[in-house]
Amino acid sequence: MAGKSAKPKHVPQRTCVGCRTVLAKRTLMRIVRLPDGVFIDPTGKLNGRGAYLHDKKTCWERGLKGGLSSALKVTLTAEDRHRLEVYLASLPEESAAALPSTDITDTQT
Ligand SMILES: [Zn+2]
Repeated sequence: MAGKSAKPKHVPQRTCVGCRTVLAKRTLMRIVRLPDGVFIDPTGKLNGRGAYLHDKKTCWERGLKGGLSSALKVTLTAEDRHRLEVYLASLPEESAAALPSTDITDTQT
């Protein structure tokens, strides 16, 4: 087993607006500003000004406190905030394990 299995490849990088860490775009969740509000964009394909956050509660909390609205140049409405808080509540508590799961389930609590 001496072969190279992983090819080094350029990956787009983005900054988490919660903790300011620069990471591969695919490890971050995109939040997009649309004409009718701020939405989570799991596909990353929606057109609009976007910001990125880790799937970590602490980053979302910080983002909600101001990082997100300044990155998106928008004031979060109560509705936007609620939508993001629902998602935040579905995130696991911060742990050392990086879970690759991006399932958004809304059945708990
Ligand atoms: Zn972060």
